[in-house]
Amino acid sequence: MIEKFTNDKVSEILKSAGLRLTDARVGVLSVLAESEGALSQEQIAEKLADIAPNKTTIYRVLESLVRKGIVHKAFTRERSVYFELGDNCSEKQCHPHFTCTSCDRTVCLTDVEVPLAGIGEKGFEIHHQKVEIQGLCPGCSVEG
Ligand SMILES: [Zn+2]
Ligand SMILES: [Zn+2]
Repeated sequence: MIEKFTNDKVSEILKSAGLRLTDARVGVLSVLAESEGALSQEQIAEKLADIAPNKTTIYRVLESLVRKGIVHKAFTRERSVYFELGDNCSEKQCHPHFTCTSCDRTVCLTDVEVPLAGIGEKGFEIHHQKVEIQGLCPGCSVEG
């Protein structure tokens, strides 16, 4: 079962983080690597029902990957956290996310750069900036 998930990128990520390759870790990372957008813990668990039937395992794996900075908490919706690989983010900033208020889709804007907030002079030190944008996606704004 697990072979279908194993890919070089995933094992590379785990090795460089000093983490052992377990079925659950490889599974979670592979699901995120193959996904076009961020996924909730529920969605990840559904896809991994065969190899990691225990949702607590998925939760622990996600938490440890977040601590290592491999996986990012992209945004929260309806109390669910959505996770994604951190490979499209810079050290100080995650790529912006756009949520359409009409069709409710959230899109990763991986090729959009937003400048860091200029608050250094005010004495604030930025560790991490996340930008969330709301509005109408191209499909919905055409119809409107
Ligand atoms: Zn839309
Ligand atoms: Zn994203």
